[in-house]
Amino acid sequence: MSVLIVGSTALDSIKTPHAENPRLLGGSASHAAVAASFFAPVKLIGVVGEDFPKKYLQLYRRHQIDLAGLQILPGKTFHWSGEYEANMNHRRTLLTELGVFETFTPTLPRSHQATPFVLLANIAPALQLHVLDQMRRPRFVVADTMDLWLNIALADLLKLLRRIDGFVLNDSEAQQLTQEDNVFAALQKIHRLGPKYVIIKQGSHGSILSSPKGFFLCPAYPLRKVVDPTGAGDSFVGGLMGYLASAKGSVEANLRRAMIYGSVVASFCCEGFGLNRTAKLQRAAIEQRVTELERLTKF
Ligand code: AMP
Repeated sequence: MSVLIVGSTALDSIKTPHAENPRLLGGSASHAAVAASFFAPVKLIGVVGEDFPKKYLQLYRRHQIDLAGLQILPGKTFHWSGEYEANMNHRRTLLTELGVFETFTPTLPRSHQATPFVLLANIAPALQLHVLDQMRRPRFVVADTMDLWLNIALADLLKLLRRIDGFVLNDSEAQQLTQEDNVFAALQKIHRLGPKYVIIKQGSHGSILSSPKGFFLCPAYPLRKVVDPTGAGDSFVGGLMGYLASAKGSVEANLRRAMIYGSVVASFCCEGFGLNRTAKLQRAAIEQRVTELERLTKF
């Protein structure tokens, strides 16, 4: 089955303590779409400007990503710039130029409206809702978000939470949303806002799923060197949704393994700038790390 992914399609300029790379292919939807493409067919919904490099369109196409829902409009592509501290868990945004995103209305081609798996990757919650309004009886809908929307679009986000199956956010966002420092107490409060499945990401410490069947603690793959963690969260949820769309059986039965696949794709994302490492990935390398994680957590 296929996955429909809406989110940002961006040019990212990223600075780490060791290197600086301008105008890489980025955006929540780009990372998530490439991650999901290792498992299932992907339909991308987004917008770019006329300045968007052709080589990036080719990269999407190499991953068989359906671009019928990608608008190319006069103007500039969304440009985001961030800088990491020596501790790569800390980053600050240097610049956000919305460009064509300012007036973006995601309109779904008819052929996309019955896609069974829907990932509302990080983007304004009003746009996530607009995409959801156009879907016809999706099987499983997951949304991601960021602190910005908790600050400036909380009412829309709360509306969205009542309409999705799964919600993925990081630990600081969960704390901000619930005013709870304790991650398990925060999970309980987020369920009350709507989603049946809640996943809290904890960066290099892995992630926690809370579902009607209880908790699952998903490890991060142990990396000795992180080059650039930008997009790791998007790769995680993209890999997770791609795996779910490819697996037989119920979502509930496959969710834990899907998180492990997401975690593994995210680990590759961290090993290169932007999508550099992920774009070269082969399925066999993914399987190898999944087996390693299985070995590391069995007792
Ligand atoms: P992550 O590292 O998972 O938090 O995701 C980083 C990605 O989010 C980058 O590729 C950015 O282009 C994208 N991004 C940054 N700010 C925004 C925003 N306001 N809306 C949507 N995407 C954004």
